Amino acid sequence: MKDVVLVDTMGGLGDLVLALPLVEALSRSHPGARLTVVTTAPWHVLLQRDPRVQRVVPVLGRDGAVIAATATAVLEAVRPELAVTTNRQHGLPGLLERTAATAVTDLWRRPPADEPVDLRMLRLLAEDGVIDAALAAVPPRLAVGDDERAAGAALLDDLGAERPVLLFPDSGMPVKHWPLPSWADAVQRLRRRGRVPVVVSQVEQQRTALAAAGAVIAPPLPIRAVAGLAAAAADRGGVGVGGDTGPVRLAAAAGTPVVGLFGATAAGRYGYRGRVRNLQGLPGCTVRRPTAITEQECWWTARCPLTADHAPACMADVAVDDVVAAVLAL
Ligand code: SF4
Repeated sequence: MKDVVLVDTMGGLGDLVLALPLVEALSRSHPGARLTVVTTAPWHVLLQRDPRVQRVVPVLGRDGAVIAATATAVLEAVRPELAVTTNRQHGLPGLLERTAATAVTDLWRRPPADEPVDLRMLRLLAEDGVIDAALAAVPPRLAVGDDERAAGAALLDDLGAERPVLLFPDSGMPVKHWPLPSWADAVQRLRRRGRVPVVVSQVEQQRTALAAAGAVIAPPLPIRAVAGLAAAAADRGGVGVGGDTGPVRLAAAAGTPVVGLFGATAAGRYGYRGRVRNLQGLPGCTVRRPTAITEQECWWTARCPLTADHAPACMADVAVDDVVAAVLAL
C-alpha cells in the first residue's frame, strides 16, 4: 500500500487527540505507506513532529465548504489505497468512496453507551479489516520533542513546581465547568498535601481566583508548549485535573496521569484512557444521552433542568474530596 489518508475534521482539539490512536493503528498496520492526515487548524500542529505521519494538511476554517474543498484537493491528488474519515458531514463519505480504493466512512455506527469513543473507532477499523486487530486498543500517544519537554521542565522550575498538579478549569462548553469554588477548595487542599497546583487557563476570572487560593499560574502557552509542560510534569510525578476538554486529553496523550471530571458527558464513553481516574457526577441523571450528547437538553445551553438556578447538578456532584484523593492516588 502506498498511500493512506485520514480525514479528521470534527473541529476540536479533543477530537484530534481522540484520533491519535487511529494514527498509531493505521501507521503500524501499513508500514511503508505514506500517511496523510487532513485536520483542523490550529490543532494540526500537534502532528507536525509526529514520525507516524508523513504529511499534515491543515483545514483553515470550520466552514463545511472549506473542509470539503481541502479534503477534495488532497484525495483527488493522492487517490489513496485506503481513506478513513471520522467526520460524516460535508459530503466526505461520498468523496472518500469516489477517490479511495477502500473507504471507511462511518465510525459512529451503532455506538454502545459504555465503550470509549476512540476504542469504538479502533474496533470498527479492525472489523473492517483495515488495521491489525492486535492494535485495536492502542492508547492516544502524542509525539513530544525533547526540546519541548525541556522547555516544560524549565517552566515548572520557574514556577517552583517540583510536584505539580496541572489544573485545566476552562472548557469551551460551559456545561462541562466544575464550579470555581470547588477548584479553589481543591487548590488549598493540594497545597496542604505538598503539591503545587499550576493553573493552565486563559480565563482571567479563573486565574485570579485560583491564584488567591494558592495556585501558581502558567503564562499563556501555545498548544505544543502545553504538551511539553504536560510531558515534563509527568516526568516529575505530576498529575493533571480537568473536565471533558481538549487540553486534558492532550495532557493525557503527552503522558500525564489525569483525573477527569465528567458531568454532562458519560465517562464510560468520553473518559480518559491510560493512567487515569475518571469521576462521574450524578451518574443516574436520566437527561444525559451518552451516545447523542448534542441532543441532550442541557448540552448547548448549560441550563440544567434539575437545579433551581440551572447550574449543572452533575458537575457540582463531583466531590472535592474525591478529586484530591484521586490526585494523591495517581
Ligand atoms: S441534566 Fe443537569 S445533571 Fe443531567 S447531564 Fe445535564 S447538566 Fe448534568
